[in-house]
Amino acid sequence: ITKETDVVVVGGGGAGLAAAVSAAENGAKVILIEKSPSLGGNTIRSGGEFNSYDPVRQPKIEMTKALIDELNEILNYNEAEFGDYAETLKTLKAQIKEYLSNGDTTKLFDSPELHAIHTYIGGKRTDLDGKEISGKFELVNTLTQNSYGTIEWLEGHGAEFQDGIGTVLGALWPRTHHNVEPLGTGYINAMKKSATDLGAEIMMNTKATKLIVEDGKIAGVTAEQADGTPVTLKASKGVVMATGGFGANSEMVVKYNNYWPDMNKNIKTTNTSNATGDGITMGEEVGANLWGMGFIQLMPSGQPGTGALSGGVWGSAETQIFVNKEGKRYVNEYAERDVLAAAALEQTDETFFIISDMTSLGNPDLNGKSVWGDNYQDLIKNKNIYMADTLEDLAKQMGVPADTFVAEMEKYNTYVEKQFDPEFGKKNFGAKLETAPFFATPRTPSVHHTMGGLEINEKAQVLDTAGNPIDGLFAAGEVAGGLHAGNRLGGNAITDIFTFGRIAGASAAGK
Ligand code: ADP
Repeated sequence: ITKETDVVVVGGGGAGLAAAVSAAENGAKVILIEKSPSLGGNTIRSGGEFNSYDPVRQPKIEMTKALIDELNEILNYNEAEFGDYAETLKTLKAQIKEYLSNGDTTKLFDSPELHAIHTYIGGKRTDLDGKEISGKFELVNTLTQNSYGTIEWLEGHGAEFQDGIGTVLGALWPRTHHNVEPLGTGYINAMKKSATDLGAEIMMNTKATKLIVEDGKIAGVTAEQADGTPVTLKASKGVVMATGGFGANSEMVVKYNNYWPDMNKNIKTTNTSNATGDGITMGEEVGANLWGMGFIQLMPSGQPGTGALSGGVWGSAETQIFVNKEGKRYVNEYAERDVLAAAALEQTDETFFIISDMTSLGNPDLNGKSVWGDNYQDLIKNKNIYMADTLEDLAKQMGVPADTFVAEMEKYNTYVEKQFDPEFGKKNFGAKLETAPFFATPRTPSVHHTMGGLEINEKAQVLDTAGNPIDGLFAAGEVAGGLHAGNRLGGNAITDIFTFGRIAGASAAGK
């Protein structure tokens, strides 16, 4: 098969579909190719959380004293320590002063500048060689200045957002939006419909293998269909790489990891098996610079053997405890993801159990399904989870010493009573764990998001190792590097893929 078009988009997740819609509405003829039999990639499996300031929804949310305290703390930050972000901090401080003296301090404060400072601080990390990294200012600034415009753009294409605003784990501020439809389905359905309506052609089961270079310009891709049919797609205006991350490519994960000491070669992932870093490999072959590849985000609580988020039961962080194979607690269960993952990796077999009871699970119907869609009875039968009426029996099923485990549970319940955890400093508690039946879900960290990738600029052009744009090559979403640096804030990935997907499509169309 040989075809000619203006723009080829590689990958049919959130970033690719947004790029296809955007290129098409900017007048380009578009072909999108997707290697799997379905659209959506990791985007459709994600929680769909979208961080943005919001002049419509946020003023309906109450400001709390804790958040006012945080704003006051920012007033003490020193511009001299903020590098490229100094001007942003200065603007933010002026906004905060104005808000505290003349604004309505009962209403939630937010701004693109606050989101930028959070993203900068949240992403600043040091790798195993001692090198510090933080998000490229022009990318972070582009993200936070355009996030609300992206919400309006998505709404214009049929995606519906809930009215409520939350704070997804690790988002650092109440600016997380959710679609009306569950997980990432709302975005994907809306984008797919718009792409098709705008005349973009979508080719499924078609895997890009190589970029075509002509006269120093990216001129298309070669691909292969699942049945072996070779495909050549010529693109007169450019190619948008939107192939997602490399979380499912354990060879690449182990090769590039420069954050986790002793990363296990057999580490699993929460990602689809299609997240194999194809776009990074294809980009590197044409001279693209790889940025921040060593930083890999682990989800502390993957299913042993599969890495999946599903296949277990638990409540929220306040209500549950984690114990190791020795039957002991080892961490503040309310901590951030990278802290929880690091602690889990130090336990025997890198494994722990999430302990919950009927109260912490919200008294579910045990003949029904969990929030992940698993049948409780199947989980029990398949030993994905253990259930028992006594803690002694639960310990026996888990294979941990019963006396230690029972004593640990009793001790934790006294911490709940006193609202004080002298061992691990947990500060937020739910009810005591004392309502049978009790549950244990075995878990181990798994790869969740790869922050590094093809270096892009604010127009989503891919840069070469000398820092110059590669003519005709664009990238957006998890395949791109430069934005999230060492740690991605919860809720920033969906904002990223749609904001930069939209930019990449427009850039490729020549806007
Ligand atoms: P993002 O969040 O950045 O959009 P996703 O994981 O949601 O990333 O989507 C990436 C999509 O790209 C997946 O559907 C995946 O199957 C697809 N993909 C990955 N590699 C290729 C390739 N070589 N050719 C075509 N599609 C690919």
